Amino acid sequence: MFSSTPPVSVQTRKNNLDRMRSTQFDILVIGGGVTGVSIARDAALRGYTTALVERADFASGTSSKSSRLVHGGLRYLESFEFGLVFEASRERRYALRNSPHLVRPLPFVFPVHEDDPRPLWQITIGMWLYDAMATFRNIQNHQVWSKGRALREEPVIGPQGLTGATHYYDAATDDARLTLAIAQDAHQAGAVLANYTQALGLLHEGKKVVGAQVRDRVTGDEIEVRARVVANATGPWTDTLLKMADPEAARRLRPTKGVHLIVPRQRIWSRAAITMNSTQVGRLMFLIPWGQFSIIGTTDTVYDGDPADVYADAEDVAYILEAVRHAFPVAGLGEENVISAYAGLRPLIASDAPTGYKVSREHQILNTAPGFFTIAGGKLTTWRSMAEEMVDELAGYLGREHGLSPAKPRQTADRILPGGDFDDWHSYLTNQVVELGDRLDPETVMHLVSAYGTRHPEVLALAEGNQHLTEPLVSSLHYLKAEVPYAVRHEMAVTLEDVLNRRTHVLDQALDQGLGVAGEVAALMAAEL
Ligand code: FAD
Repeated sequence: MFSSTPPVSVQTRKNNLDRMRSTQFDILVIGGGVTGVSIARDAALRGYTTALVERADFASGTSSKSSRLVHGGLRYLESFEFGLVFEASRERRYALRNSPHLVRPLPFVFPVHEDDPRPLWQITIGMWLYDAMATFRNIQNHQVWSKGRALREEPVIGPQGLTGATHYYDAATDDARLTLAIAQDAHQAGAVLANYTQALGLLHEGKKVVGAQVRDRVTGDEIEVRARVVANATGPWTDTLLKMADPEAARRLRPTKGVHLIVPRQRIWSRAAITMNSTQVGRLMFLIPWGQFSIIGTTDTVYDGDPADVYADAEDVAYILEAVRHAFPVAGLGEENVISAYAGLRPLIASDAPTGYKVSREHQILNTAPGFFTIAGGKLTTWRSMAEEMVDELAGYLGREHGLSPAKPRQTADRILPGGDFDDWHSYLTNQVVELGDRLDPETVMHLVSAYGTRHPEVLALAEGNQHLTEPLVSSLHYLKAEVPYAVRHEMAVTLEDVLNRRTHVLDQALDQGLGVAGEVAALMAAEL
């Protein structure tokens, strides 16, 4: 299905930079997080010639630092934002259908205690509404559990003050690999993408923005990329780009930092994701199962520094551990159990910022100069609908100013992401476990099918005649060495960190953060490059 186009390799990156030098594009997207790659995909699918530049790696900004949930947004019900919950619930349904390997159902348990601000009956009403917003087409409608059942199903909750729980469904994803799959599909649709390519400034003709001056951060070369319209999708860097267009531009974002911890799952075992109250009144946190690990988060603190320098500090870790000890005293989780922590920035729109002409609680689209559009805010969950809305705006501009109409209509609602072309997750996985059982253990097959879907045979093909590539990359994890050359040949991995942190998650999961295999990964990459 995806074989006719050359793969998203490092060689393709070089070729794309050459094409950027010599082509006048309809649309140039700046930023290769989930928002930018989705815009590039939608635009290319409608027939616009489209380029995308990303200053570091795809998803290296917020799009690999999220809670990895594709969710309707239960908390928005409290502020009566029904439109938003309806949209996010619909997008969750599309994502489960169109990317069944990367977005999978995740059960949640919401325990309720005597001293909680909302009693069980109130949470139950909220759950009915949540199911209604999904037009009762969520994976399963919610259930209300007695205290006894909640403790039987999830002993980690502990009996202290517990009055009962609700059980409901959202979905989980791998944010970095989801972003990558969207980028691969954008490439498949004809978009010209390059990571490690930074926009340094915008090109102007009079008042019009007509492209960007970009630097290839691998070679240091600078080129001009020309386009009829430029889309700023730089997440936490939004204000920097707005200032490139107009040095007097008002600040739009007030980012907040969110930190997550990764701990071994057996240290704080849960089958489902569990909602917990933080030590701050009214803030909810989550314990989220992630294979052999659990993700716990998140914090929410104002951040004013350089978006590229955001990191988790000791205070963040202490805050999360305190919340965990409060919510799950039986687990006795301590600092010594933390394998890693990661921090990201919520690209939140400042409440006193001048509003855009399309405003919602979650994102804004701004047109601050002719030929220059910005999309700010938003969620991972609504990547598809946000991109559709943005491309509608760009299409309007291209029609008005350049007499250009899209060659094709919108088509992302039903389009399957690369690797997602199978019907049922359980039967597909079972078949693969049986088929590959003589070569690989079930956990490794499960990992390969989750990460690559129906493309996993391409990874294994690299190991043919090269048996050592079927060995585990790290003995305690389920990655194969073959995934390293695959990342260079098919996933535009340029640096060691691309492989260890986003194509795989060794950096977050290995006790030594991948230091022990760094030399070998570098050698495998060097052989490709
Ligand atoms: P980014 O991913 O940050 O992408 C912007 C990109 O622009 C970056 O890669 C950057 O390198 C690039 N860039 C910047 N400047 C330039 C330049 N000059 N030239 C070229 N490129 C440039 N949403 C959910 O739906 N579910 C969740 O569970 C969830 N959890 C979250 C938890 C946390 C802690 C945080 C912080 C956010 C969470 N979100 C969640 C929100 C979601 O992650 C973000 O809305 C989304 O990832 C933003 O994507 P983006 O593409 O807009 O920004």
